[in-house]
Amino acid sequence: MIRISWLELLQDIQSCKSCSLHENIQNKVPGQGNPNARLMIIGEGPGAQEDREGLAFVGPAGQLLTRMLKAIDLERDEVYIANVVKCRPPGNRVPSKEEADACKPHLRAQFALVQPRIILLMGSTALQQVLSPDMRITSARGKWVERKGIFFLPTFHPAALLRDEGKKRDAWHDMQMVRDKLTELEESSP
Ligand code: SF4
Repeated sequence: MIRISWLELLQDIQSCKSCSLHENIQNKVPGQGNPNARLMIIGEGPGAQEDREGLAFVGPAGQLLTRMLKAIDLERDEVYIANVVKCRPPGNRVPSKEEADACKPHLRAQFALVQPRIILLMGSTALQQVLSPDMRITSARGKWVERKGIFFLPTFHPAALLRDEGKKRDAWHDMQMVRDKLTELEESSP
Protein backbone atom coordinates (compact mmCIF):
# COMPACT_ATOMS: atom_id res chain seq x y z
CA MET A 1 0.00 0.00 0.00
CA ILE A 2 1.49 3.35 -1.04
CA ARG A 3 1.05 5.86 1.76
CA ILE A 4 3.07 8.67 0.26
CA SER A 5 2.82 10.78 -2.90
CA TRP A 6 5.72 11.80 -5.11
CA LEU A 7 5.47 15.33 -3.78
CA GLU A 8 5.58 14.15 -0.17
CA LEU A 9 8.53 11.88 -0.93
CA LEU A 10 10.49 14.69 -2.56
CA GLN A 11 9.73 16.98 0.37
CA ASP A 12 10.84 14.23 2.81
CA ILE A 13 14.12 13.80 0.97
CA GLN A 14 14.78 17.53 0.74
CA SER A 15 14.24 18.04 4.46
CA CYS A 16 15.91 14.78 5.58
CA LYS A 17 18.68 14.93 8.18
CA SER A 18 18.60 11.26 9.11
CA CYS A 19 22.34 10.83 8.62
CA SER A 20 25.32 13.18 8.54
CA LEU A 21 25.73 13.07 4.75
CA HIS A 22 23.44 16.09 4.36
CA GLU A 23 25.98 18.29 6.17
CA ASN A 24 28.42 18.77 3.27
CA ILE A 25 26.29 18.77 0.14
CA GLN A 26 25.18 21.37 -2.36
CA ASN A 27 22.01 19.54 -3.37
CA LYS A 28 19.99 16.47 -2.51
CA VAL A 29 19.81 14.03 -5.42
CA PRO A 30 16.46 12.23 -5.10
CA GLY A 31 16.49 10.48 -8.50
CA GLN A 32 14.58 11.14 -11.69
CA GLY A 33 12.93 9.62 -14.72
CA ASN A 34 9.69 7.98 -15.74
CA PRO A 35 7.54 7.59 -12.59
CA ASN A 36 5.86 4.55 -14.19
CA ALA A 37 8.99 2.94 -15.62
CA ARG A 38 9.20 -0.79 -16.18
CA LEU A 39 12.96 -0.55 -15.58
CA MET A 40 14.42 1.06 -12.47
CA ILE A 41 18.16 1.58 -12.10
CA ILE A 42 19.80 1.83 -8.70
CA GLY A 43 23.33 3.15 -8.21
CA GLU A 44 25.35 3.95 -5.11
CA GLY A 45 25.30 7.67 -4.42
CA PRO A 46 25.73 11.08 -6.07
CA GLY A 47 29.16 12.22 -7.27
CA ALA A 48 30.47 15.78 -7.63
CA GLN A 49 28.51 16.70 -10.76
CA GLU A 50 25.33 15.08 -9.45
CA ASP A 51 25.73 17.05 -6.22
CA ARG A 52 26.10 20.32 -8.19
CA GLU A 53 23.08 19.66 -10.41
CA GLY A 54 20.81 17.73 -8.03
CA LEU A 55 20.38 15.01 -10.66
CA ALA A 56 21.39 11.34 -10.57
CA PHE A 57 23.90 9.87 -13.04
CA VAL A 58 24.83 13.04 -14.94
CA GLY A 59 28.64 12.82 -14.52
CA PRO A 60 30.99 10.67 -16.62
CA ALA A 61 29.51 7.42 -15.27
CA GLY A 62 26.04 8.74 -16.02
CA GLN A 63 27.01 9.60 -19.57
CA LEU A 64 28.22 6.04 -20.01
CA LEU A 65 24.92 4.80 -18.59
CA THR A 66 23.07 6.90 -21.18
CA ARG A 67 25.09 5.22 -23.95
CA MET A 68 24.46 1.77 -22.45
CA LEU A 69 20.72 2.44 -22.41
CA LYS A 70 20.77 3.73 -25.97
CA ALA A 71 22.51 0.53 -27.03
CA ILE A 72 19.38 -1.38 -25.98
CA ASP A 73 17.06 1.22 -27.53
CA LEU A 74 16.11 2.96 -24.30
CA GLU A 75 16.17 6.68 -23.57
CA ARG A 76 16.93 7.89 -20.07
CA ASP A 77 13.47 9.37 -19.67
CA GLU A 78 11.93 5.93 -20.20
CA VAL A 79 13.55 4.54 -17.05
CA TYR A 80 13.66 5.64 -13.42
CA ILE A 81 17.15 6.28 -12.00
CA ALA A 82 18.01 6.60 -8.31
CA ASN A 83 20.79 5.93 -5.84
CA VAL A 84 20.96 4.14 -2.50
CA VAL A 85 21.84 7.43 -0.78
CA LYS A 86 20.47 10.80 -1.86
CA CYS A 87 23.37 12.89 -0.51
CA ARG A 88 26.94 12.82 -1.83
CA PRO A 89 29.35 10.98 0.48
CA PRO A 90 32.48 13.15 1.01
CA GLY A 91 35.18 12.36 -1.53
CA ASN A 92 32.86 9.87 -3.25
CA ARG A 93 33.52 7.27 -0.56
CA VAL A 94 31.22 4.28 -0.26
CA PRO A 95 28.26 5.10 2.00
CA SER A 96 28.38 3.33 5.35
CA LYS A 97 25.79 0.72 6.24
CA GLU A 98 24.26 3.20 8.72
CA GLU A 99 23.95 5.89 6.03
CA ALA A 100 22.48 3.47 3.52
CA ASP A 101 20.05 2.12 6.13
CA ALA A 102 19.01 5.67 7.05
CA CYS A 103 18.18 6.42 3.41
CA LYS A 104 16.40 3.13 2.75
CA PRO A 105 12.87 4.41 3.45
CA HIS A 106 13.29 6.84 0.54
CA LEU A 107 14.37 4.05 -1.80
CA ARG A 108 11.53 1.81 -0.61
CA ALA A 109 9.05 4.60 -1.28
CA GLN A 110 10.50 5.00 -4.79
CA PHE A 111 10.04 1.25 -5.44
CA ALA A 112 6.47 1.47 -4.20
CA LEU A 113 5.64 4.48 -6.36
CA VAL A 114 7.33 3.37 -9.58
CA GLN A 115 6.39 -0.33 -9.27
CA PRO A 116 9.03 -1.45 -11.79
CA ARG A 117 9.12 -4.98 -13.22
CA ILE A 118 12.91 -4.96 -13.58
CA ILE A 119 15.51 -3.45 -11.27
CA LEU A 120 19.10 -3.09 -12.46
CA LEU A 121 21.41 -2.99 -9.44
CA MET A 122 24.59 -1.18 -10.40
CA GLY A 123 27.50 -2.05 -8.15
CA SER A 124 28.07 -3.67 -4.76
CA THR A 125 26.32 -1.04 -2.65
CA ALA A 126 23.05 -1.34 -4.57
CA LEU A 127 23.30 -5.14 -4.63
CA GLN A 128 24.02 -5.47 -0.93
CA GLN A 129 21.45 -2.91 0.18
CA VAL A 130 18.63 -4.18 -1.98
CA LEU A 131 19.17 -7.96 -2.14
CA SER A 132 21.60 -9.17 0.52
CA PRO A 133 24.68 -7.88 2.35
CA ASP A 134 26.26 -11.30 1.79
CA MET A 135 26.18 -11.09 -2.00
CA ARG A 136 29.24 -10.11 -4.04
CA ILE A 137 28.95 -8.27 -7.35
CA THR A 138 31.61 -10.43 -9.04
CA SER A 139 29.63 -13.64 -8.48
CA ALA A 140 26.08 -12.19 -8.56
CA ARG A 141 26.32 -10.11 -11.73
CA GLY A 142 24.54 -11.32 -14.81
CA LYS A 143 22.14 -13.60 -12.87
CA TRP A 144 18.46 -12.80 -12.43
CA VAL A 145 16.96 -12.86 -8.96
CA GLU A 146 13.15 -12.89 -8.89
CA ARG A 147 11.28 -11.70 -5.83
CA LYS A 148 7.51 -11.27 -5.79
CA GLY A 149 7.35 -10.97 -9.56
CA ILE A 150 10.11 -8.34 -9.77
CA PHE A 151 13.29 -9.25 -11.62
CA PHE A 152 16.57 -7.95 -10.15
CA LEU A 153 19.76 -8.00 -12.18
CA PRO A 154 23.06 -7.12 -10.49
CA THR A 155 25.69 -5.62 -12.78
CA PHE A 156 28.82 -3.48 -12.54
CA HIS A 157 28.50 0.22 -11.74
CA PRO A 158 29.38 2.36 -14.81
CA ALA A 159 32.13 4.03 -12.73
CA ALA A 160 33.78 0.61 -12.44
CA LEU A 161 33.60 0.26 -16.23
CA LEU A 162 35.39 3.60 -16.62
CA ARG A 163 38.15 2.35 -14.32
CA ASP A 164 38.41 -1.09 -15.92
CA GLU A 165 37.62 -1.47 -19.62
CA GLY A 166 37.84 -5.23 -19.21
CA LYS A 167 34.47 -5.24 -17.44
CA LYS A 168 32.61 -3.74 -20.42
CA ARG A 169 32.05 -7.07 -22.15
CA ASP A 170 30.19 -8.46 -19.11
CA ALA A 171 28.25 -5.22 -18.70
CA TRP A 172 27.12 -5.36 -22.34
CA HIS A 173 25.97 -8.94 -21.79
CA ASP A 174 23.93 -7.76 -18.77
CA MET A 175 22.32 -4.95 -20.76
CA GLN A 176 21.27 -7.45 -23.43
CA MET A 177 19.70 -9.54 -20.65
CA VAL A 178 17.69 -6.48 -19.61
CA ARG A 179 16.56 -5.87 -23.19
CA ASP A 180 15.52 -9.50 -23.59
CA LYS A 181 13.61 -9.50 -20.29
CA LEU A 182 11.78 -6.30 -21.22
CA THR A 183 10.75 -7.89 -24.52
CA GLU A 184 9.67 -11.10 -22.77
CA LEU A 185 7.56 -9.20 -20.23
CA GLU A 186 6.00 -7.07 -22.96
CA GLU A 187 5.07 -10.12 -25.02
CA SER A 188 3.55 -11.91 -22.03
CA SER A 189 1.54 -8.93 -20.76
CA PRO A 190 -2.19 -9.08 -21.51
S1 SF4 B 1 21.73 10.41 2.61
FE1 SF4 B 1 19.54 9.97 2.76
S2 SF4 B 1 19.18 9.56 4.96
FE2 SF4 B 1 21.15 10.66 4.80
S3 SF4 B 1 20.56 12.83 5.05
FE3 SF4 B 1 20.65 12.38 2.83
S4 SF4 B 1 18.50 11.92 2.31
FE4 SF4 B 1 18.68 11.72 4.55
